[in-house]
Amino acid sequence: MILKIANGNLILPNGVKRANLYVKDGFISEISTKDKKFDRLIDATNSFVFPGLIDAHTHLSLQQGEYHTAGDFQKSAALAASQGITSVIDYLPQDTEEIPVNGAFVNYSFHKVITTPVNYKYIKGYVAKGITSFKIFTTYSKNGWMLNDGQIRDLMLHVKRAGAILEVHCENDGMVKENLRHMPPVIENLSKIREPLCELEAVNRMCFLAMNTGVHLHIVHTTLPASWTIINNYRKKGAKITWETCPQYLFLHDMLLERNDNYLYTFAPPLRDKDAMTTMRALVLKGKADIITTDHCAFTKDQKLSSKDISRIPMGLPSIGFSFRLILELFDNPKNFNKAAALLSLNPAKLFGIKKRGALKRGFHADIAIIKEISSRPIELPSLSLSGANPYSHVNSRWRVINTIVNGEIAWQAGDLKHLAGHFLKRAI
Ligand SMILES: [Zn+2]
Repeated sequence: MILKIANGNLILPNGVKRANLYVKDGFISEISTKDKKFDRLIDATNSFVFPGLIDAHTHLSLQQGEYHTAGDFQKSAALAASQGITSVIDYLPQDTEEIPVNGAFVNYSFHKVITTPVNYKYIKGYVAKGITSFKIFTTYSKNGWMLNDGQIRDLMLHVKRAGAILEVHCENDGMVKENLRHMPPVIENLSKIREPLCELEAVNRMCFLAMNTGVHLHIVHTTLPASWTIINNYRKKGAKITWETCPQYLFLHDMLLERNDNYLYTFAPPLRDKDAMTTMRALVLKGKADIITTDHCAFTKDQKLSSKDISRIPMGLPSIGFSFRLILELFDNPKNFNKAAALLSLNPAKLFGIKKRGALKRGFHADIAIIKEISSRPIELPSLSLSGANPYSHVNSRWRVINTIVNGEIAWQAGDLKHLAGHFLKRAI
C-alpha cells in the first residue's frame, strides 16, 4: 500500500518545498515532484506538511495528590494526535513501573522520575529498556519529590556514567517555603511566591553541578531570559546543558493572575511579567531554545476551583490542545516554519534519542502533520479537549490540523480519529 500526499508545501529541515511525499510500509519512501504510482491519496494542495511533532514533556495521565488529570492516557494521546503530535515523552513516577496505555494514537516513551536516591545499576537498567532520561526536582520537598544537593550530585555521576540525560525542574525550595510564610497562598500571589529568583538560583546551582560532574543536563520548562543567560554562560565554559520552554511562557503573563478566571493559570514555575514573556519569544525566534514542549497537565474547572489555596489546587494547564497552533503564530511566516519544526520535531528527536523521526526524510518513519490556513480567529478549544479549559482564548490563530499520520497510518483526519497506530518508542543514547 502506497500513500501519496500530493502537492503539499513540505517543511524540510532547510526550508519549504512543494512536492509529493510517498509513504510505504510505515516509512517515507520518496519525496519527489514527479508523479508515481499510489494506492491512496491525500491532496495537500495549499497545505503545509510538517514532520509530526514530538512533545517531550507531557503528563497525559497523572495522579497529583487526590486529583487525577482529566481523561486517561489513551484519550489524552488522542487529543495530542488531533493537534499534529505523533510522539510524546511522558513521565514515569519512581514508584510506578508502567502506566496503562491500552493502545495509543501517538507513539510514546517515558522519562523516569527520581525522587529517592538510586544507584548506577538502577539507571543502567532503565537505559537498557530504552528509557534514557531521568527527571529530578529541586523543589516540592513537602510532596517528598525533592532530592538534596548531595543526592543530586551522586545521581548526576550515575547518569553521566550511563551516558543518559538528567532533566531538572529548577525552583529553590527554601525560598518558596519562606515566601509562603510571608504571603497568603492565594492565586494572585503565585508569581510572587515562586518568584524569578527561585528559578534563577536553582538553574545556576544545577548548571554548576552539571559542569563539575560532566552530566548532560536538560532544564525543563524554562521561563526566564535570565535563566538562558546563566545556561549560556555555563555552556561557554563547556557544560553540556540544553533547555526547553513552553507556549505558556511565550503567550501568557502574570497579569492574568489578576483576572476572575485566574484558576486557569495555576502551574509551576508560574507566569512571569510581560517583559520576560516578550524576551522569551525573541530568544525562541532567534533559535536559542533547544526544544519546545508543553508540560501538558490538564485538570477540569471543578478540580481547579476545589480550593483557593495554591498549595492545594492541582497544578498544571492543558497546552497540548493549543501548542502547535500557537507556535505557528509565533513564527508567523511559513518561510520560517522549518525553524518551528526544528524546535517541535527534529531537535527533540535528536536530543532524546528517537531514531529516524522528527523530519520529512526518505527512510524515516512516516510521522506527519498536515495543516491548513483558515481565517484568523481566537484560538478554539480542541474538539477532543478533556479539561474543557482554554487558557489561550485571547490569542488568535489561523491554523488548523487537518491530518495526522502516525507510523504511516492515519490517526486523525478532518476532525475524526482513525487508527491506533502508536507504540512504545525504545530510545537509544
Ligand atoms: Zn512537567
